[in-house]
Amino acid sequence: MRKPFIAGNWKMNMTAATGAALIKELAPLVANANCDVALCVPAILIPAMTEAAKGTNIKIGAENIHWAASGAYTGEISADMLKEYGVEYAIIGHSERRQYFGETDEMVNKRTLTALANGITPIVCVGETLEEREGGVTEKVLDKQLEIGLKDVEDVAKIVIAYEPVWAIGTGKTATDEQAQETIAYIRKKIGEIFCPKCAEKVVIQYGGSMNAKNCKGLMAQPDIDGGLIGGASLKLDFATIVNFDK
Ligand code: PEP
Repeated sequence: MRKPFIAGNWKMNMTAATGAALIKELAPLVANANCDVALCVPAILIPAMTEAAKGTNIKIGAENIHWAASGAYTGEISADMLKEYGVEYAIIGHSERRQYFGETDEMVNKRTLTALANGITPIVCVGETLEEREGGVTEKVLDKQLEIGLKDVEDVAKIVIAYEPVWAIGTGKTATDEQAQETIAYIRKKIGEIFCPKCAEKVVIQYGGSMNAKNCKGLMAQPDIDGGLIGGASLKLDFATIVNFDK
């Protein structure tokens, strides 16, 4: 009942030229995908990548969105700016934003509500650090991220959650299939408690953290894992292999 969703997160990589060239190569390889496909790209690349992806099944997303409609927020991007280019997704609360830019759960919540109010699907990132996992507080950390981050959301089915253990991002260290399944099942249970169990069944939950062409099949075979948020592997043709995980 949940359609798988594979999304790339280019982060601060690629230029308009290299990005367009990659999309041109990826497009025929992912054309028959059985899942939704998106590439979330730096804001400055959105116009050119939207053009490059025109007529394909690749949707272009943003890596962030500000909560204010407009105003004195140097360096930020509003929902209207994104909508002008038909952006359908925005990553919110990525661990790199939390770690390097002071992103709090309260900010994640404001961005999430703004995306929803503007018809943009938020990809809300949650996940624990290595210290937190080893300290046995993973569930407590996720509870707080979900309770605050999703506060006042009316229809949780309109949200995508990306479970990204911080220790697995860009490190080559993937959570095992079982670890990822167990934690994502916990996230679904928690969403069920905050909203309702039936609502939780409708929420697409991705795994993210060194997911690649080799480990994607095992992860995607888990009952609660509905997709992937892909960093490094979305910068190359491996992304197409992940999108075609079921073939
Ligand atoms: C990410 O940044 O969302 C991510 C999962 O990165 P990587 O795939 O490189 O670990």
